[in-house]
Amino acid sequence: MRNTRIEEIKAKKEFTNSVVCNKCGKIDKGFYEEEQDSNLTFQDTHRVTVDFEGEDSKYRTNVWRFDLCDKCLTDFVKTFKFAPEWFGGSLGVSSQMKFKEWKEHNGEVG
Ligand SMILES: [Zn+2]
Repeated sequence: MRNTRIEEIKAKKEFTNSVVCNKCGKIDKGFYEEEQDSNLTFQDTHRVTVDFEGEDSKYRTNVWRFDLCDKCLTDFVKTFKFAPEWFGGSLGVSSQMKFKEWKEHNGEVG
């Protein structure tokens, strides 16, 4: 058997006020999805994490984290020769074909 008590605990929590694109410097000020939210939502920037796990990697034990705005991310992905995993094909359309169409439509999802 345990005897318990209830205490109110105050804790510090980190909140992001804005996100800056590492490439171009554009600032995403975010927005609150709900009126009572404490966390801002950032739809125009994306966190990219690159984890160098391989022992032979020259960046071994490093993790790179950076933020890119929509435009910089799209421009970067457009330089790819092969489709990233997101462009998974369906109904007989290969991911490479969907990726090619996406690039031709200037990064718009069709
Ligand atoms: Zn940018």
